[in-house]
Amino acid sequence: MQCIFCKVESSSSVSVEHIVPESLWNTKHVLPHGVVCDTCNNYFAREIEKPFLDSAAIKQLRFLEGIPNKRGRIPAASAILMPKFPAAITRDLKGDGPMIVDVSEEAIAHLMNSSGGTLLLPMGGRQPDDRVISRFLAKMAIEAMAYRLLSSDGGVDYIAIEAQLDPLRRFARRGEPKNWPHHARRIYPADSKVAGKGDNVLQTVHEFDFLVTEHNEWYFVFALFGLELVINMGGAEIEGYVAWLVRNEGASPLYQGKNARPNDN
Ligand SMILES: [Zn+2]
Repeated sequence: MQCIFCKVESSSSVSVEHIVPESLWNTKHVLPHGVVCDTCNNYFAREIEKPFLDSAAIKQLRFLEGIPNKRGRIPAASAILMPKFPAAITRDLKGDGPMIVDVSEEAIAHLMNSSGGTLLLPMGGRQPDDRVISRFLAKMAIEAMAYRLLSSDGGVDYIAIEAQLDPLRRFARRGEPKNWPHHARRIYPADSKVAGKGDNVLQTVHEFDFLVTEHNEWYFVFALFGLELVINMGGAEIEGYVAWLVRNEGASPLYQGKNARPNDN
């Protein structure tokens, strides 16, 4: 068996690879050990997933939506206790439990002498950089393709040897070339809920699919809380996707054709 990224013999690797990080509630899309070798797995966790997950915007989203990390904790959010005291807010897993606010002694002294304090949670924290997002997409794209081929004989080996995937592989592994653009837009509000079975209300955290255009260009389409992120698997350009969107009146490939939802217009 060889690693789908660095192509080294990887039969003895022990780690399983989460296509979407576990910290974003993924327990389903997982590649068995050896598909991605331990070295690449550790490298991606450190150099790609961590910078993505630790960006202010994603942390804030995880806090607001109550998504726990691997240790079952929801990341704390930074806030400001008016008029000027920095604060950290933590919340428990259920989300409806108490919020715990951690502030300085100076802020406590201020609160004791006033009738209360207003806590502001700043919105729209810094997004991960474009390059981090693109590399995150490149990594997931190759893994998602391997995941689709897991049950077919020789399918995963095909991913490892397919030369057309080499540029995208190099970008995920080494960040070369420097720029590989992606397309980002919101396709539904971050907190939109969809009806599940019975009285359950489900929230879509993440979903992904591939788009193959009539020009035979392959795109990986990923959505995180309604933020659609798209990367071209064949080359460092995104114009083909923009043109596809124009031809399809802005539909998302996630909800078009075979994926169309019955309630879609
Ligand atoms: Zn590897």
